[in-house]
Amino acid sequence: MSAIQNPKLFRDSLFRWFKKYGRDLPWRDTNDPYAIWISEIMLQQTQVITVIDYYRRWMKRFPDFQTLATASEADVLGLWQGLGYYSRARNVHSAAQVVMKEHCGKMPTGLAEIRKLPGIGRYTAGAISTFAYDEPEPIVDANIARVLARLLNLRIPVDSTAGQSTLWGEATALQPKSNARLYNSAIMELGALVCLPRSPKCPVCPVQKYCTAVNPEALPVKKPRPKTLELTENAAWIVKGGNILLQQQTGVRWRGLWKLPAFDPSLNTDQQSVSTPLLQFTYPFTHHRVMLSIFRQSSPATNGADQSWFKMNSLEQLAMTAPHRRAVEQILAAKITGRIKISKND
Ligand code: SF4
Repeated sequence: MSAIQNPKLFRDSLFRWFKKYGRDLPWRDTNDPYAIWISEIMLQQTQVITVIDYYRRWMKRFPDFQTLATASEADVLGLWQGLGYYSRARNVHSAAQVVMKEHCGKMPTGLAEIRKLPGIGRYTAGAISTFAYDEPEPIVDANIARVLARLLNLRIPVDSTAGQSTLWGEATALQPKSNARLYNSAIMELGALVCLPRSPKCPVCPVQKYCTAVNPEALPVKKPRPKTLELTENAAWIVKGGNILLQQQTGVRWRGLWKLPAFDPSLNTDQQSVSTPLLQFTYPFTHHRVMLSIFRQSSPATNGADQSWFKMNSLEQLAMTAPHRRAVEQILAAKITGRIKISKND
């Protein structure tokens, strides 16, 4: 049972507001489960405004399971380039192959079957089910969690087991038997446009009279974050005749992506190159803050098996880790403006 009195009137207010103010997003014009799945995966950890162009490009290049399943991993990662969290791209690639092999090229129906696909959890399975098939499945993403936590004035962390159980319970209780797609889209949109993380627009909120939040800006409560740890990373700028040496990653998180090789000071004869980095900046990584320093390094006599030379002007479509792409772009820009002196061979 919902903690909100009269859920039907609550939903009616939400529907009226959504029909007037809901955004016209490309994935809202379709009930193709493939398209909805791609949009949902892209929207994880990424803002709508960023996703729109990526989604359009992706649907043009890989319009269905078959084209995606038969593409190379390099092409898939290349098109994902810039969205980050590359495990998402690898998962959609392998999920498309599973769909072709085990489901005759069609997204399975039913939460349990959808959840068996790589990279699909409880939220995404529910989103595919409700947005593609209009099934009355509850969903709780970050926007909905914030709206529900405020409506209920929930004082326990939303990322705790008890918090999750309360949110999913309330999402289930509020779910209508029909118009599930409309309802889930509307409550999600309320979180995106009105019930904002920092400054919720309560005076214009269509469900304000149902809301029990005492101090909405302080909600949702989350578990304390782990302490930020400082790390250092030294990478090598190795260039020759307009080419740059890059190394392909093999670990779980970065597999298939290219980055600058690790810096090896023993390969440098020039003492200044060892002590003065060409570029230095910090970037966040989970609960770490990494100080990345790029040092000029002479080219090795032979490359490692996982290393390759690339033309400097061909890097745009290459899947690279975001900090290393940023480093390469900044060094090249500094070279053009003369802020970094690089030998004529570079
Ligand atoms: Fe969010 Fe304010 Fe609406 Fe409550 S009244 S749901 S806090 S926007």
